[in-house]
Amino acid sequence: MSTIATSLEAFEKSQAGAHCSTGLATDPWRFDRIPTYGPGASETDELPDQAPRQPALPGEYRNASDEELEARIIAAKRTLGERLLILGHFYQRDEVVRHADFVGDSFQLARATLGRPEAEAIVFCGVHFMAETADILSDQRQTVSLPNLGAGCSMADMADLASVEACWEALSQLWGEELDASGRAPVIPVTYMNSSAALKAFCGRHGGIVCTSSNAAKVLDWAFSQGQRVLFFPDQHLGRNTAKAMGIGLDQMPLWDPNRPLGGNQLDALERARVILWHGYCSVHKRFTVEQIASARRHFPDVRVIVHPECPMAVVDAADEAGSTDYIKKAIEAAPPGATFAIGTEINLVQRLAREHPEHTIFCLDPVVCPCSTMYRIHPAYLAWILDGLVEGEVRNRIRVDVATSRDARVALERMLAAQP
Ligand code: SF4
Repeated sequence: MSTIATSLEAFEKSQAGAHCSTGLATDPWRFDRIPTYGPGASETDELPDQAPRQPALPGEYRNASDEELEARIIAAKRTLGERLLILGHFYQRDEVVRHADFVGDSFQLARATLGRPEAEAIVFCGVHFMAETADILSDQRQTVSLPNLGAGCSMADMADLASVEACWEALSQLWGEELDASGRAPVIPVTYMNSSAALKAFCGRHGGIVCTSSNAAKVLDWAFSQGQRVLFFPDQHLGRNTAKAMGIGLDQMPLWDPNRPLGGNQLDALERARVILWHGYCSVHKRFTVEQIASARRHFPDVRVIVHPECPMAVVDAADEAGSTDYIKKAIEAAPPGATFAIGTEINLVQRLAREHPEHTIFCLDPVVCPCSTMYRIHPAYLAWILDGLVEGEVRNRIRVDVATSRDARVALERMLAAQP
């Protein structure tokens, strides 16, 4: 066994038992019976009343072999031709993403929607908020479908419109709504792309903007040119990591817990605030730890550790670099052969990068399979069902954002699209 393979095995053994199940990699349908975990699980989820629900799939899809599903998808794509645009997020499973016309992060996918106005049907193999964004940005004649309505985002669900409006009201009572002598508002709302259309619309209505992990620093720069402070939701880690890199002190970034008066803060802490961070996080990225990085460095002294900025601040600080999925991809592509990378982001992307770059050693900091379990709900069976529907003239699982929400959200999204990463 080579030295690298030996080190990798030792690293994986050192992490064994500490992480989530390997079962998702091999038997997705088994998870139908386990609420909130894996494809098909949405049928038994306990969801908020307003949340979309995925109906049961017809047996012909549910019981089809992998080969049959693959053949159905290829045949439907061929029939639909240029009328169809399939978008796939980097974190999407391989059996689905290989059918995508365009693969990217949420920022790139938002832009891809604009680039194919001739496609009548957009099938979004990502999660719910991404499909909403595609519907907002696409032409009115285009339809957007999400293959499994249970493919949500646990982070996006951590901020709802009512809680953010209550926070806004409390902040308005503190600081009013008057502009200062430089024409800056008391607070500018900034929502991460990973949020509902309703929150993007809230930002559009209140002089705010959307950001992604690719452009968060540029967006915060823009926000500070418009306002004295920023309310950043829903991901506290992206907000904290970005603001800290811009030189903002931790004592100027209070955390807002929507379930407590004044977000759980004393007035003096809020008076110092430059960025108020919402109490949200990504359940995938918060699993990465400083100990995993230390272990990777012990086994691979020359390793280059790159993590996603949704990871906790201590993990970002311990890494060599932090950046969006696109940043990670480009860093690996640009490295001279023979490099070793430990990556802190979703496993489907890391494994794909490892396969595409055999000239490097690439492994996930969390070596036991830890996918985005909600994105994983888009099994090829759902994709085949959606595409067959389109062939028959039926748009299934259409994601529609109402006109007023769409109009306001578009304002915030267009401000973001103008802030190039
Ligand atoms: S990886 Fe995290 S933030 Fe991204 S879609 Fe999945 S749950 Fe949401």
